Amino acid sequence: MEKIQSDLKKAFNAVSPYIQRHTSKVCPSCSKVCCINKHGNYDEVDMVFIRALGLDSADNKSDKPDTDPCRFLQEDGCFLPRYKRPFRCTWYFCEKLLESMRADSAKEYKSFISVLQDLQGLRRKLLEMNSA
Ligand code: SF4
Ligand code: SF4
Repeated sequence: MEKIQSDLKKAFNAVSPYIQRHTSKVCPSCSKVCCINKHGNYDEVDMVFIRALGLDSADNKSDKPDTDPCRFLQEDGCFLPRYKRPFRCTWYFCEKLLESMRADSAKEYKSFISVLQDLQGLRRKLLEMNSA
């Protein structure tokens, strides 16, 4: 179990710089920021994952309205490390973000997709182990 946990954190850390590079290009000028409180809430699968990673203390409660800015958002972006964020925050790509990624080098895009698939596979495996 510990190996898969550390592999997962590594996979999250591996996809992060690429996503970050593109969000830093497109998000500052976004007029409809997607980081609203509703999207910062963990769903049930996230909670299984969060517990499996030993992050029981993760804060899943917020009294803020769904449409308020996410409680994890600060001026320079999300302050949670990627592996602690609801998973939707890693796989959601708006059209502007996708355009920016498509304009990037094909080699880097391909490599990013491959690491993202590894990450999804590892997450699935961890969830299967925890539901067995
Ligand atoms: S990911 Fe897309 S929708 Fe969300 S803040 Fe960035 S540009 Fe806006
Ligand atoms: S990326 Fe961070 S700030 Fe944005 S919705 Fe997800 S948890 Fe909230």
